[in-house]
Amino acid sequence: MDVIDGADAPYWNGLVEGRLMLPRCGGCGDWLWPAVSRCGKCGSEAIEWTARAMAGTIFSWTRTWHRFGFTESLDLPFVSIVATVDDCGIRLLGRLDDPDRIDPVMGETITGRVGATRVENRDIPTIIWSRG
Ligand SMILES: [Zn+2]
Repeated sequence: MDVIDGADAPYWNGLVEGRLMLPRCGGCGDWLWPAVSRCGKCGSEAIEWTARAMAGTIFSWTRTWHRFGFTESLDLPFVSIVATVDDCGIRLLGRLDDPDRIDPVMGETITGRVGATRVENRDIPTIIWSRG
């Protein structure tokens, strides 16, 4: 597997292990997303990666009917969502399990699991969200 580095490496490594890890400032307590190595509010470099439940609500969504680059492994149509993770306000992009093609509703409760998206020869960890 490729080496994962950068400020968001704990996020990706967490997904590989089946966990959602999100960064919080050890100085002021703010949740930080996108991941950074230094808090923009208080300047602290004490970033605390914290395991969070994969639970949240739908912030926005779109159903994709037409193929575009790097989605070759996905069956059409597929639903992409931006989910607001419970109790921290961080919003993450993921895919919604959409077997019945029922339109999602903004604010709908969802739970996630870690899946993968095949891109070229790599499996990219992906949060797959389900209703309820
Ligand atoms: Zn801070």
